[in-house]
Amino acid sequence: MLEWMRFPSLFPTHTRSLRLIFLALTVSSAGFVSATTLPRESVIWTPDVVVAGSPELFRVTVPGATSIDADWLGRRVEFFRGREPNSWIALAGVDVEAAALPSVCRITAHTASGDIDLSRTIDVHAAHYRTGSLKVAPGFVEPSPEALARIQEEVKLKERVFSSSAATPLWTASFRPPVAAPPTDSFGTRRMFNGTLASIHKGMDFRAAQGTPVKAGNSGVVVLAQPLYYEGNCVVIDHGLGLYTLSMHLSRIDVHVGQVVATGDRLGLSGATGRVTGPHLHWAVRWQGAYLDPAKVLQLNLAGIR
Ligand SMILES: [Zn+2]
Repeated sequence: MLEWMRFPSLFPTHTRSLRLIFLALTVSSAGFVSATTLPRESVIWTPDVVVAGSPELFRVTVPGATSIDADWLGRRVEFFRGREPNSWIALAGVDVEAAALPSVCRITAHTASGDIDLSRTIDVHAAHYRTGSLKVAPGFVEPSPEALARIQEEVKLKERVFSSSAATPLWTASFRPPVAAPPTDSFGTRRMFNGTLASIHKGMDFRAAQGTPVKAGNSGVVVLAQPLYYEGNCVVIDHGLGLYTLSMHLSRIDVHVGQVVATGDRLGLSGATGRVTGPHLHWAVRWQGAYLDPAKVLQLNLAGIR
């Protein structure tokens, strides 16, 4: 069973029934060991104040663990061994649309002498994102039947892309800004399109002039590199364990699917393709289906973690 856990494609994130079966097996096959002897610092997360849209770096320190199982807010949190002795690391987060409520991060450490329950209650606080409006061409608000068919095909394509993340972390050290251009605080903004269609802005816009080089924010594998209806020319990098970055509206794509990229490698040039009002780079960070604040991801210190 534990071998399964290293292959997320065999154990889909949102297959709740499978996860419940797994938990039931875990509880019945190994009695829980008391966690009272482990210090409070056995589980730490950064940043310590959690808001909707926060990325969170978890560090679990537990002697003798052979694996860790965890889930939080309906998503599987995948831990890997850290460099420090007895340490386990996971990069996770809270979706931009998550409610401001207490949550339970369920963490179980498996050891030779039994399971250790390291679950924690984590308060999710409200993030105060802005409300704005944006004018776009009517064709993007009411797509034609042909466009609708294309959009539906692309929904399926993206589902496939996001369902097969690498089983190991592919990122190295901290994330870097994808472009040398001023960022905006546009993440989380509730937008009205032409006064009718509301949406939440799930990425960060950089004021990049047409033709500015767009770079990989961290190392990984290119899993999508093609034009899409809304996103325009789009590049998606898989950073492993369900973590992706998306670069949209490019004028040119310089990478191909399957290409391994290092931090700073050029993915293409910024532009104004897809649903835009002008040239800019839309950069998004997705973890297990949740969209995280890219500004906070860039602030995470991941140096020396792996
Ligand atoms: Zn955007």
